[in-house]
Amino acid sequence: ITDKINALPDGANYFSLEFFPPKTSMGFANLTSRLERMSQALRPLFVTVTWGAGGSTATKSLELAEICQRQLGLTTCLHLTCTNMSRSLIDDALEQAKVLGIRNILALRGDAPRSEEYREEGQLPEEDSNKDFTWAIDLVRYIRKQHGNYFCIGVAAYPEGHSDESHPEHQDPKIDLPYLVEKTAAGADFIMTQLFFDVEAYDGFEKMLREHESGVFKSIPIIPGMLPVQSYQILRRVTKLSHARLPEDMLARLDAVKGDDELVKRVGVKVLSEVIEHIKKRPNPGPRGFHFYTLNLEKSVSHILEDCHLIPQPLLDEDEDEAIDVTPAIN
Ligand code: FAD
Repeated sequence: ITDKINALPDGANYFSLEFFPPKTSMGFANLTSRLERMSQALRPLFVTVTWGAGGSTATKSLELAEICQRQLGLTTCLHLTCTNMSRSLIDDALEQAKVLGIRNILALRGDAPRSEEYREEGQLPEEDSNKDFTWAIDLVRYIRKQHGNYFCIGVAAYPEGHSDESHPEHQDPKIDLPYLVEKTAAGADFIMTQLFFDVEAYDGFEKMLREHESGVFKSIPIIPGMLPVQSYQILRRVTKLSHARLPEDMLARLDAVKGDDELVKRVGVKVLSEVIEHIKKRPNPGPRGFHFYTLNLEKSVSHILEDCHLIPQPLLDEDEDEAIDVTPAIN
């Protein structure tokens, strides 16, 4: 991923798309054709495939990663969590990623898994032998120790805080900061953020990182997470789960149309496009990227990418190149 980012021309923007593994073979078939359409029409720099906490989707995540990397030829980043996972599951996932030609891992801690996910996958976790992995940094270190620089490693970051009493962890970007410094210094190549709508919070967060005295964030790609609005209900649920604040004016615009799903999507496209245009204007040490939590859906993200002119020109294939090369000779 970082090789591809570094190869982009000055001032270029790029984007990535995130997908989760469907539960059924019908779901896989549908997603595969959607991925094929999206990759041809939108040309993401890379795609990412989520990993169920505790390895609950291990088989299906690897299956989807294989479709993306091998079948569709997309640069693929596999998410990998490390808590509630046996070490052998982590080793297997990394080995299988290698076999599939995957060179990118998003190294995460993960949350506690829900037992029904295990039951669906038929994979109960082994007695956890894995006391070595408490935080994401442990996974970053482990991957570097076992695999050197073979993998390009991404880590997660959170632009907004929350003090939700019902949540086991109080979250605060300033309290997280020393851990993010450590995690980055341990070998991360890029940072990908939690979704957000509050651009002021994001501006402050990015500035805090770029100016940090450690210097570890000076030039590392920081890729902001974007959630296209698919429906009013999904938006409210996901923002609650991820503790993303919806600024008053955005909420008012969406509230005003909440009875009409099509209008909600349309306003959502405008809202996200404004967020992106705002971030595009921020100074950045390299090309500016955006990561889209697609929820496996196609339309809203396509509209946003079009509106924000994020879709790169298609590369000429070899035949076309040759056709252009011979033109002067014919003339
Ligand atoms: P960490 O970096 O370990 O941080 C977790 C918390 O612990 C932070 O509050 C941090 O400040 C604190 N902390 C870190 N180190 C220490 C320390 N040494 N001592 C004390 N406190 C410490 N989850 C999934 O299950 N599957 C996915 O595919 C997935 N994809 C994601 C993609 C993105 C882009 C993001 C932002 C999140 C994703 N998550 C996913 C969610 C993630 O697993 C959870 O948010 C998890 O709770 C934290 O993971 P982390 O990697 O940020 O953890």
